[in-house]
Amino acid sequence: MSSIINKDQQYVWHPFTHLKYAEIPVHIVKGEGAYFYDADGNKLLDAISSWWVNLHGHCHPYISKKVSEQLHTLEHAIFSGFTHEPAVKLAERLIGHLPKNQSKIFYSDNGSTAVEVGLKMVLQYWHNQGISKKKFIAFENAYHGDTFGGMSVGARNVFNHAFENLLFDVIHIPLPDAENIDHLKDTLQSWFTNHNDIAGFIFEPLVQGAAGMLMYEASYLDELIELCRSNGIVCIADEVMTGFGRTGAFFASDYLTHKPDIICLSKGLTGGYMPLGVTSCAEFIYNACVSDDKTKTFFHGHSYTANPTACSAGLASLDLMEKTETQEQIQLISRLNQAFVLQLKTHEKLKDVRSKGTILALEIRTEEHTHYLNHASESIASYFLKKGIIVRPLGNIVYLIPPYCITESELKQVYAVMEQFLEEL
Ligand SMILES: *Cc1c(COP(=O)(O)O)cnc(C)c1O
Repeated sequence: MSSIINKDQQYVWHPFTHLKYAEIPVHIVKGEGAYFYDADGNKLLDAISSWWVNLHGHCHPYISKKVSEQLHTLEHAIFSGFTHEPAVKLAERLIGHLPKNQSKIFYSDNGSTAVEVGLKMVLQYWHNQGISKKKFIAFENAYHGDTFGGMSVGARNVFNHAFENLLFDVIHIPLPDAENIDHLKDTLQSWFTNHNDIAGFIFEPLVQGAAGMLMYEASYLDELIELCRSNGIVCIADEVMTGFGRTGAFFASDYLTHKPDIICLSKGLTGGYMPLGVTSCAEFIYNACVSDDKTKTFFHGHSYTANPTACSAGLASLDLMEKTETQEQIQLISRLNQAFVLQLKTHEKLKDVRSKGTILALEIRTEEHTHYLNHASESIASYFLKKGIIVRPLGNIVYLIPPYCITESELKQVYAVMEQFLEEL
């Protein structure tokens, strides 16, 4: 074992990692484009954009240059009572890309805090009007992060067993589809009529990431949002994973006719360079906190709020996102994914295969049920790693969410390994 791995085992506690049976971690020494290089000199294709964050490849010269310039100008500044150009410019440009009803940007540090801020904005909005509404509606299987608010609106499962009785009550509803939409709307409407306590509705639009890349149609979500809005319920889109081109559009909310009131972003926000979270909101949410009464202040903030270096990475990543080449790459990956889905649609080893934009998921038929702890996960990951491809299956679900710099031939090479894997099952 190398000394880094030895010391890793001695001093480091890794996230979401079974401490007893986990394999020795791969020691990454360098990143370049879609690839990592490990300490043994292996070149590994990062097919999951390093936990879904890296949009344009590793160590992109343009982002690295911009971040480096920022580091020599202003590395960090307190953001209460002070401001700076990177945060203001990034806010302006995000508002330019977000649905037209979004008007203000609130900064935090990651996806969980972006969600936490969204939930607190909703509660503050009602509180400031002297209205007692505290309950949220969320989808079954949802994942909204690991802080207590995020866990509360998330599914109750193995991720949060230990904390279960500390989580606040949420109404979990199934994902909408052609069969249940009418019943779902009837049920919700009768809740709204009989209990006047629902504050907000939070959802991962179109794709539920951590649940296993579960996909559902925009039109049904649209119907639910319309129903909620007409009952005064605030709608939060958690676009932490779906933002920045992942579903083929700039934001998954772009597929919706009825726009969310609050949108949470992180993951791709800085192109995978720095931790940063954003919660955007419509004017009426912000206005509820504009008051002569100081107790109506939104008392939330983090020490590193709007870190200028992270914001400069965000701006550089947006520059790249806005390039025609990037948009063409997103469309190309989406098309190739779709074709591959059609090709595998009836594969006997698959329970399902689906794609939305640049996200592709294969649900493998196993003896066990589909769930996160399904034992298929480790063996699938190590199979792909031996072929030089990094995937991180969610149980028996293998998915791709590649950086946009991946080439057609690299993507086809990944498809080929997937087919070969299925063949050898
Ligand atoms: C990853 C994720 C989060 C949490 O983001 P972190 O940066 O890991 O805290 C929240 N919501 C969704 C939809 C996510 O995919």
